[in-house]
Amino acid sequence: MKRRARNADFEDQTHISNEHVRVFARRRVSGTVERRVPLVFSFAAVSLILTLALGVVLGREIERSVNERGLEMLRQTTQSAIALTVNTIVTGLSFGTEGVPTTTQQKLAQADLISSASRVLVSNSDVVAVEAVLADGTIIGGAGAPPVGVTIPRDERFRAALAGVLQIRTLDMNAHSATGIEPSLLGRFGDLLVLEQGVRIKPGGPILAVVVSYAPLGPTRRQAAADSRSIILILAAGLLVLWLAVFRLVVRASRALRREASRNAHQATHDALTALPNRVLLRDRTKQAVLASRRSGTYVALILIGLNRFRELNDTLGHPLGDVLLKQIGPRLQEHLRDSDTVGRLGGDEFAVILADLRSPETALTVAEKLNVAIQQSFVLDGVTVDVDSSAGIATSPDHGETFDELLQHADIAMDVAKREKLATVNYTAELDTYSADQLTLLADLRQAVEQPGQIVVFYQPQAELATGKVSGVEALVRWQHPQNGLISPDDFIPLAEHTGIIRPLTWLILRAALTQNRQWAQAGLLLRVSVNVSPRCLLEPEFADNVSRLLAEIGVPPERLEVELTETAIMNDPDHARDVLHDLAGRGIRLSIDDFGTGYSSMAYLKMLPVHELKIDRAFIENMDSDANDAAIVQYSLDLARNLKVTVVAEGVATQAVWQLLAELGCPTAQGYYLSRPMPADNLVQWIAHHQTTVAASTTPVTRAATTST
Ligand code: C2E
Ligand code: CA
Ligand code: CA
Repeated sequence: MKRRARNADFEDQTHISNEHVRVFARRRVSGTVERRVPLVFSFAAVSLILTLALGVVLGREIERSVNERGLEMLRQTTQSAIALTVNTIVTGLSFGTEGVPTTTQQKLAQADLISSASRVLVSNSDVVAVEAVLADGTIIGGAGAPPVGVTIPRDERFRAALAGVLQIRTLDMNAHSATGIEPSLLGRFGDLLVLEQGVRIKPGGPILAVVVSYAPLGPTRRQAAADSRSIILILAAGLLVLWLAVFRLVVRASRALRREASRNAHQATHDALTALPNRVLLRDRTKQAVLASRRSGTYVALILIGLNRFRELNDTLGHPLGDVLLKQIGPRLQEHLRDSDTVGRLGGDEFAVILADLRSPETALTVAEKLNVAIQQSFVLDGVTVDVDSSAGIATSPDHGETFDELLQHADIAMDVAKREKLATVNYTAELDTYSADQLTLLADLRQAVEQPGQIVVFYQPQAELATGKVSGVEALVRWQHPQNGLISPDDFIPLAEHTGIIRPLTWLILRAALTQNRQWAQAGLLLRVSVNVSPRCLLEPEFADNVSRLLAEIGVPPERLEVELTETAIMNDPDHARDVLHDLAGRGIRLSIDDFGTGYSSMAYLKMLPVHELKIDRAFIENMDSDANDAAIVQYSLDLARNLKVTVVAEGVATQAVWQLLAELGCPTAQGYYLSRPMPADNLVQWIAHHQTTVAASTTPVTRAATTST
């Protein structure tokens, strides 16, 4: 079929592109909490930690370098301050020969000179003590130093300074190596910077003495700490501002991304024109619904709705108006659905409805029919009133598939049939797959037969009391008088009518015929009850009982002369709904019979709640009950059950005298079957009954031989 091929193409094209969005879409669809908000927070936390770490590292580095710089400055200022002093010391050294004073007077003058220069140094610089020491360790002058003439111990560094290498060191407050004046200076000033510098009298001359100067590190360190503190503070503030700016930027970007992502997700799962869920979302919703239905034992239905002659409408009114119509379909359908149902668009004029959590597959039929009726109400498109109609195909899970694609494929087949046969709703059945041309013609013929009078005829099969032989009622059984194919048995067209919904107009046709016939017999003095087989589809009509009452009143038949036959399975499909309708019918005085009793699973407890008047034991148990002990037991059980429920029984399919007699012995009240009579045209019935009554009156047993004048 062309249409299905087109759908397959579409599937192929969209398959790959949809695949990657599906995972994402599903996450949004199933409502999983998005992970983006926590992401922003984790970014905030991580970036804050990193910024703090950076702050700490930078802070340490700044502190270290400020400290070093302070130390370096202290060294430089100390060194340059000493440089001035050293000149005086050099002058002081140049006493006597080779700079060494020879007389006491010279020594005193030298010490005076050196010490006054040293004092100037101490008062004008960071230096707190200075001593000039000869190579042998004798102090020859200084300030804050031991007296002249004292010998101090010489170490490595001292010797290196003597060799002309400037010695710079820091001396820790807790230094164990401190000697000379060092311990007392450490005690007073804390850590020290110590410079030891060799002194020559003239350039290139020998080094005669070492000038040792001490500067406290404390003030420099304190200054450095204060300096680095303020730098670090500025740095911290800068980093905080930077972090805030970046965080703000990230939050904004994330928001924009999220908006973009949700827009994308919406686009990936919704139809652009109507904003209804598209195939991707429908597939997901179906999956969820099927999973849920498996747990609860309910059904899921996919109703595929196609607008009829949409192309023509598009061509005559123009595409913009066609689009306006398509946009109005979704809301129109939604009015008739529950919140848990989904309306989507598959493209073109095709819409799909997913019904979740159905207690019976039949419910989908009612809904589909409601939706078709809803679409038939006029649409106003930019001031233009337009009438459209639609065809629907239904597939239900689990019977017709478990996945969206299986259900869609089957609903598509059903919709195809509906469109071709100009039907409103078609339920998918396996037979539709192999819909032969013959069957399609038959279906077309049947639709015509239902619309035009004459072809659908009703036969009647009498039921009689086993005890007296008295005819108690008749069952209306449909026949189709086909213009070419002759008389067609209901078994050959009722299933077709059921699947395609034709059963409803057909049932009304039969009801009308049977009641009209019933009134005619009554007018001729024959008061008979007529049983009519009613399809479960009819029970779904919201005003079924009302319409039956109206028909009875219109034709003029009292309700108690009509009996509605419903199969056990039809009732069990949707027990709650069936119970409501049956109560409604019974409340109006109409009799109810359970057909094919024994083939379904209705429980005694359930039957008790129904306003049933009669059980019809299925002919499968009756036919051979004289030879099959199991069948006889089932019949016996059914009779007991009926007695308990206080309802009457009809044994159907009584074809032999042996069975007739056995049933009479078991106390079965009523029988129907070929033994009594085959179904016959209405006209034959009056004559048959007259003959039957004479036979009964003449015989010793109620029925010895029934006249059979049927087809
Ligand atoms: P059913 O409702 O169980 O109807 C009884 C069927 O058993 C009838 O077949 C009847 O002719 C047949 N029958 C009666 N006595 C005997 C017998 O002694 N032996 C045998 N072997 N068969 C016997 P029919 O008329 O061919 O109808 C077949 C089925 O078609 C019906 O079964 C019913 O399910 C359906 N049907 C017939 N008429 C209508 C109708 O008006 N509306 C609906 N919805 N279904 C109908
Ligand atoms: Ca029946
Ligand atoms: Ca039956």
